[in-house]
Parts: sequence; C-alpha cells; structure tokens
Amino acid sequence: MPIPRTAPSRAPILALAALLLSVAGAHAQDRGSVTPKPLPPLEHPDAPSTPAKALFGRITRPAAGPAHIYGFYAKGCFAGGEALPLDGPNWQVMRPSRNRMWGTPYLVDFLERLSQKAARVGWPGLLVGDMAQPRGGPMITGHASHQIGIDADVWLTPMPDHRMSRAEREETSATDMVRSDRRDIDPEVWTPTHLHLIKLTAEQPEVERIFVNAAIKKALCREAAGSRWMSKVRPMYGHNYHYHIRLSCPAGQDDCQPQGPPAATDGCDDLDYWFSDAVLHPKPPKVPPKPKPAMTMAALPAACRMVLKAQ
Ligand SMILES: [Zn+2]
Repeated sequence: MPIPRTAPSRAPILALAALLLSVAGAHAQDRGSVTPKPLPPLEHPDAPSTPAKALFGRITRPAAGPAHIYGFYAKGCFAGGEALPLDGPNWQVMRPSRNRMWGTPYLVDFLERLSQKAARVGWPGLLVGDMAQPRGGPMITGHASHQIGIDADVWLTPMPDHRMSRAEREETSATDMVRSDRRDIDPEVWTPTHLHLIKLTAEQPEVERIFVNAAIKKALCREAAGSRWMSKVRPMYGHNYHYHIRLSCPAGQDDCQPQGPPAATDGCDDLDYWFSDAVLHPKPPKVPPKPKPAMTMAALPAACRMVLKAQ
C-alpha cells in the first residue's frame, strides 16, 4: 500500500483514508466469540463474480504441501500454511475465533523467535492478533493486506502474567496508545518498553516494514530520529491498538511479489500531513465514493485457484 509522504494529490488519499479508518476499526478492539457461527455455504461458489474473500473466508484448513507464496501482500494467497500455536512461552494468540492465526512457516518461526527476544528487552510476551487465513487471500472483514502469510498484527498491550481463557482472548480489549486528540501518544499507557519492542522488531533482518499510527511514529521520532531502523517504521491510518509487522518475501519464493524498499530516511520530517485537519478531521465527501467492487479470483494469481481447491 503506498504511504503518502508529501501527499501530492490528496483527494484519492482521503477517500482511501475514510476506507482504511473503517477497516482499521475492525482490528484489535473488535471482540470475538467463543462459539463463532460458521458462514453459510455459498450458492454459486464458482461464479466468476463471487468475491474472492467469500471463498477464502470460508476455508478453515491450510492447503497441504511445502510453503508457497503466490502474489502480493494485498493480492495473493499461500499454500503450506501453519498455525501459530495458541500459546507459547512468550506469546498468546488473541481472538482465536477469527481463525487468522495462520501464516507461512517463515512468519510462524519469526514470531516465535521475536517473542523470545522481546522478553529479553522487557516486553513480557506478544499478544498476536490477525496474521492470515489458512490459505491467505482477501478477508471478509478488516485488512487489505495479510494475504500471503507474511504479515502479522501484534497488540501494543503487554501480555498478562497468566494464560488467558478463551473468553478473555475473545473479549479483552486492546489498549489505544494514542491520545484522544490523535496528535500524540497517550502518556498514561505508552512506555519506553513499547519503543524497545518496536525497535527490536524493526532491527530483525526479515522485517520489511512496520506500520504504526502517526502519533506513535511521532513518539518514536522524539527518541530515535536518525536511527537506521526507523526507516522501516512507517505511519499508517489506524494501528493505534496494534503494530503491523510485514516480512520481506523469503528467499526462494519466486512467486512472492516484493514491494519497493522503504525510503532510506527516518521519516521524521514529513509527519505534518498526518496531523493535518484533512486527516484528523476529514469532512464527509459531498458525493459518497462508489464502493469498489470486491476482488474476484480473476484479480489474484492464477495459482490461487489451485490453492483454494487443494485438499
Ligand atoms: Zn495489519
């Protein structure tokens, strides 16, 4: 997803902003259910107009075989998925009812390693939010990306000192790290350890980008402007309850489409846009933007049909 820096043309960006705000609202603070209802079967699953999210959103198991990534973060799928176990020494999976604790083995291994390292910098453990669906692909609610099993949301709430019950995992609220005027972090909840966790994550060579709310980026800039790792940490709408970790395409995954590297700067000098009235207090458009038609299978790599149908 392009990140506006100097915002040469703002109209499409603002329309996107409204969309992303609504999408981001469906993240960490949304409660799940201990007894989720399965989606009803589709009447015409093979119709070309069927949204790909309706198909991938109904898949509950991974496609067997070696890990294979097809496509781009916001337009793709993967085979050979693995679930992050609900509990580890230094992590717990949140909102398991969403069944989005899946990823490629690269992501699962990465999160397990990161959780150990995080404990060493004083972060008690990772509360892991959405990763991907069992075979990736677009989702019925939430994210545009998270489609190829190398994106993960991690809560900015430290892990509690006990193993949470299913109900707690579904119902506990994440902490909003941003002040109510959206111009800075909330000093009541933001701690130096939050910076240590984000810095640690950004320093991992597998990490391609991290998305945080602009107010969080601003707080990081106060402490760490000029640091190399800061170039990976980019401001984004939402992301005030969790941060988003995006890994690079792993070696040997030639069907994984990389994105361009982030700008080499720390990104601390061009945050004004994010605190402008247009972003913080967007006016509703005079003419509501036409809803974009949902992505169909035709928009995804052809191999995603195989992934979808695989046993
Ligand atoms: Zn995310």
